[in-house]
Amino acid sequence: QDDGIMATIKAIEARSVHQIQSGQVITDLCSVAKELVENSLDAKATTIEVRFKDNGLDLIEVQDNGSGISPENYEHVALKHYTSKLSSYTDLGWLKTYGFRGEALSSLCALSDFHVVTAEAHQVPVATKLEFEISGKLAKRQVVAGRKGTTVSVGTIFKRLPVRRRELEKNIKREYGKVVNLLHAYACISTGVSFSVRNTVGKTKNVSVFSTNGNRTIKENIANVYGAKTLSALMPLELDLEFEPSSAMRRASGNNAQSNRIQVCGHISRPVFGEGRQTPDRQMFFVNSRPCTLPQIAKAFNEVYKSFNVSQSPFVFADLQMDTSAYDVNVSPDKRTILLHDAAALVDSLKASLTEMFELADQTVPHAQLGSKSSARKQQSL
Ligand code: ADP
Ligand code: MG
Repeated sequence: QDDGIMATIKAIEARSVHQIQSGQVITDLCSVAKELVENSLDAKATTIEVRFKDNGLDLIEVQDNGSGISPENYEHVALKHYTSKLSSYTDLGWLKTYGFRGEALSSLCALSDFHVVTAEAHQVPVATKLEFEISGKLAKRQVVAGRKGTTVSVGTIFKRLPVRRRELEKNIKREYGKVVNLLHAYACISTGVSFSVRNTVGKTKNVSVFSTNGNRTIKENIANVYGAKTLSALMPLELDLEFEPSSAMRRASGNNAQSNRIQVCGHISRPVFGEGRQTPDRQMFFVNSRPCTLPQIAKAFNEVYKSFNVSQSPFVFADLQMDTSAYDVNVSPDKRTILLHDAAALVDSLKASLTEMFELADQTVPHAQLGSKSSARKQQSL
């Protein structure tokens, strides 16, 4: 008899399943901040305040001035797969909101000390504080004073996943850095929204990490977040890519697609020594304004840039605007991974246009600005 190995197969108890699944939706500090900020943006907030305590280990709290949650929804706020944004899978193609899976609050509720304070405009100054059981069932509602909008508090994240918690504590500096970078991306892309991010360390030190002023343009947001000096080293990124669709793409669109068109908009460092950065630390990619990780696209940008400015990396803010049939956001629960159906063709086309754009820019940069190093590409070709 093998002890244990051939034991009876039985169902994992519901509570453990919920913990395991929640840990897949909320994997790190970034996913906490991402889900809360996206909910605020979906609620049409124009001010969003993100507060960290002890870099997020103790607390991550997001307060917005959005729509608030209506009383008939209180029961459903933290229940899994309850969402006000999408009612059936076929809606997915038309998705205009960040959220659609109805999993974030339910997962945060399972993993942390979680509560919500919310008020709709007509209820102010009365707000309601909502507390939940681990399962997401509403446990308590309490009248409190509050402003219009919603505050979601996530304390001691991963308290019920001890291994994950220890790992987070060990890497908190790096994790905090990552979450601030992600918030930069949301703050830059969200025109008309004032972001404020603060961190309280220990009992006394409360610092403003960064803020934006509800600007009308992405450029002004970049200036607020990274400073005017960073902005002054950037050139506009405007590419209109057109390429043959792959056969998979043709099938997906019922053979109608003649060609793929993708617009790439944003800002990038000029391809000149001194204008780039030491490390590729400030690179933000978006698909239809949704921040996401696009390793192949990032690689293409870095490779082309380096062929002009060998020793530096570019600042990149790139929003890839394309038809919603060209990608799938529903790949991973955190929605950060996007499946581009025509990635290889896109990368080739991107590299070609980017090279052309930099070559043109290179010709128009005054010689004085090129300095002694000139462009690396010219040096290489000598
Ligand atoms: P999803 O965003 O996928 O719908 P969530 O679990 O993130 O799922 O949120 C569940 C629901 O709670 C949302 O559909 C929305 O109705 C409500 N909600 C969450 N956060 C906010 C907020 N900041 N303002 C208003 N409503 C919110
Ligand atoms: Mg959400």
